[in-house]
Amino acid sequence: MADKDYYQTLGVSKEATKDEIKKAFKKLALKYHPDRAPGDKKDEYEEKFKEINEAVSVLADDKKRQQYDQFGSSAFSGGAGASGFQGFDFSDVMSQFRSGTFGGFDDVFDQLFGGGRRRSSRARRGSDLIYETEITLEDAAQGTVKEIDLNNLAHCSACQGKGAHKFESCHHCQGSGYLKRTQRTPFGLFQQTSPCPYCHGKGELPQDSCSDCGGEGLIRKKKKLEVNIPAGIGNRMRLRVAGEGEIGDNGGPSGDLYVMVYVKEHKFFERVDNDLHIEVPISFTQATLGDEIEVPTIDGEAKLKIPAGTASETIFRMKGKGLPYLNHSGSGDQMVKVRIEVPKKVSKKQKELIKQLKENKPSKGFFKKFFG
Ligand SMILES: [Zn+2]
Ligand SMILES: [Zn+2]
Repeated sequence: MADKDYYQTLGVSKEATKDEIKKAFKKLALKYHPDRAPGDKKDEYEEKFKEINEAVSVLADDKKRQQYDQFGSSAFSGGAGASGFQGFDFSDVMSQFRSGTFGGFDDVFDQLFGGGRRRSSRARRGSDLIYETEITLEDAAQGTVKEIDLNNLAHCSACQGKGAHKFESCHHCQGSGYLKRTQRTPFGLFQQTSPCPYCHGKGELPQDSCSDCGGEGLIRKKKKLEVNIPAGIGNRMRLRVAGEGEIGDNGGPSGDLYVMVYVKEHKFFERVDNDLHIEVPISFTQATLGDEIEVPTIDGEAKLKIPAGTASETIFRMKGKGLPYLNHSGSGDQMVKVRIEVPKKVSKKQKELIKQLKENKPSKGFFKKFFG
């Protein structure tokens, strides 16, 4: 038999990388997809498709490619006495096409490369998910419950996540899920056991395809989840909700859901760790004579005593009026910086009056912004 040029079949150079081979295969396999063949070209397409598969089954495998480079395709065409290479079972791909269980070219390629991710039989933990949510400073102070809409992959309930309803014992591995292969090496014959690439180690092959999930065994499911956001949570803190991430494969555990919490900036309060800072205007009279004023806090108004003779920019500490601590009892403080509002034009007579009229509170408008 004449030597075949597998590189030419795929249209790649002898130095082509695996990625280049994969791309070339995908392009050609899609072009010569038997389902796409015009009526009068069925045989021609099928033949071409076989050639492409034969070429890729050798070039995708490092060992086989090395053998091929050294000895040509005759290394693989001999029957019993040859190196034991069986080639890729093209008839299986064809039967998958016909029964509608063909998983796509990535799947075929995974079989060829021995990768097989989603459909391998090994249990694999699902990936973690991140969900972002925004809360107000008031929510951060009191704690809140956020309802989160998840749209995660879940096992298809129609087929219990199997992707099909009918299964038959895999004829490639006689239902064992494993294939034994004898390999000739310079050190002698070795028998290698590896998961069956046709049934992905499951020992059975699907005979149909679940219509609910299109054979994937997974569907996207909407779910509402209530997440408790504890009082005192900081901006950009992540909460872990165990087991609410993506579902695992083959009985592997689900990943976790991480809720990233952003705390919105407040119009009046500035947060420094668990303390809150605020600036409050007081009148010249209040500063001079002293007063008790009402100050907004994160949970309502509170009284603050201004001693007589208070200078502008004085900071008063209101103990325990900040945000609660996340990991222990107690709360931070509220720091109030008073700013004296000096009247712009005051006559001598008015000055006298100001001294006398202690009840004069010029800053009512400010408090209206909070409590009005
Ligand atoms: Zn099998
Ligand atoms: Zn299903």
